[in-house]
Amino acid sequence: MRDKAAFLDRDGTINVEKGYINNPDDVVLIPGSAEAVRLLNKAGYAVFGVSNQSGVARGYFSVERAQEINKRVLELLSAENAEVREIFICPHHPSGTVPELAIKCECRKPAVGMITSALKKYNLAPSETIVVGDKICDVELGINAKAKTALVATGYGAEEMVKIESNGGPRPHIFAKDLLEAVRLLLR
Ligand SMILES: [Mg+2]
Repeated sequence: MRDKAAFLDRDGTINVEKGYINNPDDVVLIPGSAEAVRLLNKAGYAVFGVSNQSGVARGYFSVERAQEINKRVLELLSAENAEVREIFICPHHPSGTVPELAIKCECRKPAVGMITSALKKYNLAPSETIVVGDKICDVELGINAKAKTALVATGYGAEEMVKIESNGGPRPHIFAKDLLEAVRLLLR
């Protein structure tokens, strides 16, 4: 069987964007997110989260705290029978304040490091890859990963769409109002 993999941004795509989320109680799923993940599961996609968490490098919160947020997102999805296997985070940022994390890494989106790690860890070699996110860096990630790519209007997406239209930025295959619409269009 051919592998299929979907890589979804976390904040602003799966759950509501609230700045640098650092409290699991602040995690709220965007309506339709769980259904979108279920559709991907049903269509045979291994689903992962990929999230830049520069708040760790900036000293706003710990890696452990970022992982608690991931856990909460996975729990809320799982409660609705939606399976995201793992959420990968990049804790780095070149201008961070935590010395060992203030680096130019291979995992900060739009670099493909988190996707590479997920495929290796789960032993996948997908012939079809999907990337969905609310930022231009997610679109660029999709392009770099040679994936079918969607930009959603939730989170920062609406502003990012305006930027792309006015500056001729990188174009996703699909502009969608939210993750559910993106997945429906990508699976069509
Ligand atoms: Mg986002």
